[in-house]
Order: sequence, then C-alpha cells, then structure tokens
Amino acid sequence: MLQSELFTKTRKEAPKDEEAINAQLLARGGFARKMSAGVYTYLPLGFRVLQKIAQVVREEMNAIGGEELLFPALIAREHWEKSKRWGLRVGYEFKSPAGDEVGLGWTHEEASAFAAAQFIESYKDLPRAVYQIQNKFRAEARAKSGLLRGREFLMKDLYSFHADKADLDLYYQKVIAAYKKVFVRLNVPVRLTEAGGGAFTDEYTHEFQALSPAGEDTVYYCPKCDWSQNEEVAKVKDGERCPASTAGEPASSANEPASSVCGGTVAIARGIEVGNVFKLGTRYSEAFGVQFTDQTGSKKPAVMGSYGIGVSRLLATLVELHHDERGIIWPKEASPFAVHLLVLGAEDTAVEARGRKVYDSLTKRGVEVLYDDRAVSAGEKFGDADLLGISLRAVVSAKTGDKIELKRRDSKEVKLVTLEEAMEML
Ligand code: ATP
Ligand code: MG
Repeated sequence: MLQSELFTKTRKEAPKDEEAINAQLLARGGFARKMSAGVYTYLPLGFRVLQKIAQVVREEMNAIGGEELLFPALIAREHWEKSKRWGLRVGYEFKSPAGDEVGLGWTHEEASAFAAAQFIESYKDLPRAVYQIQNKFRAEARAKSGLLRGREFLMKDLYSFHADKADLDLYYQKVIAAYKKVFVRLNVPVRLTEAGGGAFTDEYTHEFQALSPAGEDTVYYCPKCDWSQNEEVAKVKDGERCPASTAGEPASSANEPASSVCGGTVAIARGIEVGNVFKLGTRYSEAFGVQFTDQTGSKKPAVMGSYGIGVSRLLATLVELHHDERGIIWPKEASPFAVHLLVLGAEDTAVEARGRKVYDSLTKRGVEVLYDDRAVSAGEKFGDADLLGISLRAVVSAKTGDKIELKRRDSKEVKLVTLEEAMEML
C-alpha cells in the first residue's frame, strides 16, 4: 500500500472531545474516528488491526472446536421475551414504521439457543460450540474511555452446549486455556479474575483483566501468585495477606496458585476486562427448548456456557498498554502492516529505484508493506512511523546504500541488512 494513496492522514493534534489515550492516538494516526458518543468508524488502518485481532481469536476458537457463524443483529421482541430480557436498560429497542418490534443484539444467548434447538436432538449431538465476531449494540452511559467502551463495538461471542455440567466444566477450562493463548499472542498480559456469577449461578465466573490505569474495573490480585478477584467478590483489602495462602481454603481450580502457601500481599489495580467466561446452566436452553434425549431415553435441557472477547476493546487495550510519547507500538500479530518502508531522499532517482525494488520484492512475497512514498521531509516520515506504530520500520536512503536499515518499533536497535536477508526474516 502506498501511503500517498491512504484514505487517511495523520494529525498533530487529537480531537478536543477525546479524553482517553487510546482514542487520542487512534484518531491522530487515522485508525478510528468518533462519529457520535461511543460510536466509531474503523478507518482502513484500524480495520486492518481489528481483522488481525479477530484472526488470532478465530484461530484459537477453531482450535477448541468452535464453529464460526453469523447471528442476526436484529432480534425480534418475541425472542427477548422468552428469556425475559426485553425492556432492559442496556438494549436498543424500537418499533419499525411497519410495526415490528426488534432489539439490536447486545448479546446472543437467545439467538444461539434458538439455533441449537433446531439441531440438538440426542446426546450424540453434544457437545457443540458456535461463535461469531459481530458488532454488538449497548446503550452504555456516557462513554469516556474511548474505544474501550463503545455503544456499538465488535465482540467475539462463543456459546457451548453440553449433555451435563461435568462436560461444561471441562470445556470451560478449555476456553480459558484458549483465551490465554489469544492474549499471549497479542501481548496483552491478563489476570484471570474471579467475578460474581450474576443472578443465574452461585459459581464464580471469570474475567480476563488487563491491568492498566485506563481500566474501569478494580482488581484485587496477588503479585506473588495467580490469585485475583474483582471488586464485587473480593473479601480482602489491599495490603492484607493473599487468601491463596489461607490453609484449608481451596483456591478455584482455574486459579490454582503455584503453592498452597503463597505468603504474598494483596494489591489493587485498575483493570480492563478484555474477555469473560460464564457457565449459564439451563436457563436459555429451557426457554428455547434446546433439549436432547439421553442414553436412558429421557429428555433433558442442554447445559450452556457463553464466552466473550471484546475485539474492539482489545484494539484500544493494545494502545493503552503499548505506546510511548511518540505514538502507538503495535505487537507483531496486531500490526496493520508487517513493515513500514520509508524511502528518504527519493528525489535521487537511484534511491527511489532501490526503494521501489524493496517494496516490489516484499509485496510479491506476500509481505504487507506500507510504503511511505510521500514527498515530505525525513523528520515527518519518522514522526509518522512512530505515531502509526507498525511493528517493523525499514529505511532506504542514500546513507543505507544497497542495504536496508531495520528497526523494530519496540526497540532502539537498528540493523543494516541486504534485501535478501530482509526477505528471509519476513
Ligand atoms: P463490562 O463490565 O466492561 O461492561 P460486560 O461484563 O458487560 O463488560 P460482556 O457482556 O460479557 O461484558 O461482554 C463480553 C466482552 O465484550 C467483555 O469482556 C468486554 O471485553 C467486551 N465489552 C463489553 N461491553 C463493551 C463495550 N461497551 N465496548 C467494548 N467492549 C465491550
Ligand atoms: Mg457491560
């Protein structure tokens, strides 16, 4: 992609109505732009990042047997009424001029149970897991966290169906392991945090919290072990002994500390909830008739789980976690392009030709390159490269001769390599 042809341009100043660092940097770089409160356009650069994140999520969901599908966003009132979720404050609900009443999907337990009811008949049809990556709509109160909390936002939601609780418990652990892989690949350190089960279960649910001052949640955690609970369930204060060390109190299986006597001290931090996992039980399968015949011939409701990852929230989280005073620092797997190629002094036709050759060779190889071919100063090119945060920068200039100067955005180290070496590396 030629930078001179990009739909967007960089900006020196952030829009005045953006307070959050993620929204400021994403607007300055031309990744995303607010259209109204909590509603953003993902511009071509931002959309690339969203797709990269979605792809990582997709691969890990496929790896645990998730099948991708697409539910509707328009869900008729009758479906919400079945689960008693019509008329909640969170939903955008309306009547069309023709008189049909719909709610925009803010979650899809109803849709997944409605679909599963048509195919799950026998214990042989279980377990099953389906997921989608789709925009959700929620009437969030005034959003000031930028893209961390949207009124329209991209979520991955997975729903699983099981013959019994034990099978759900097994799958729940599989999803937790898959989520951990997603967050490792995207360079988002998370704390698996126990949270309240809400109205439908007395078991804990689990949130994946990325500790960051930008977070809206409060997380109690132990720096010495894996123990972590959110504000609604924590019974300790910061500075107290880590509860994982209390003899006789079993740690949750999902959060098993390395040692039963940890001896750490509880700390408190802000967290961004980037994902969560719920055991739903049979509430939705009963409401929608997701029933199966077991080995003895009796009919039973399937046991369900639901599991979310905030895909667009993850994009904003990456910006909050990985930036410096000059701009964004995308991790490799989320970077909008693999390489940002800067050609300095392209007025010199020999330099221009070398830059072209590097661009063509890499592109032919399938490497995604953003080529800064604009007639602007070297300083501006370097500044914009730091702002955009593409994980690898390549410079061709009179000074680099036949070689290419490579620098990772997250490092100060520069390396001079030949085109062949660069192609090998990429
Ligand atoms: P929160 O407590 O932050 O409102 P939630 O408990 O409502 O989140 P879920 O309904 O389970 O979250 O949604 C699954 C995931 O979707 C969350 O873990 C989060 O990453 C993301 N998410 C939820 N609400 C938003 C939002 N308004 N904007 C962006 N992402 C969101
Ligand atoms: Mg919410």
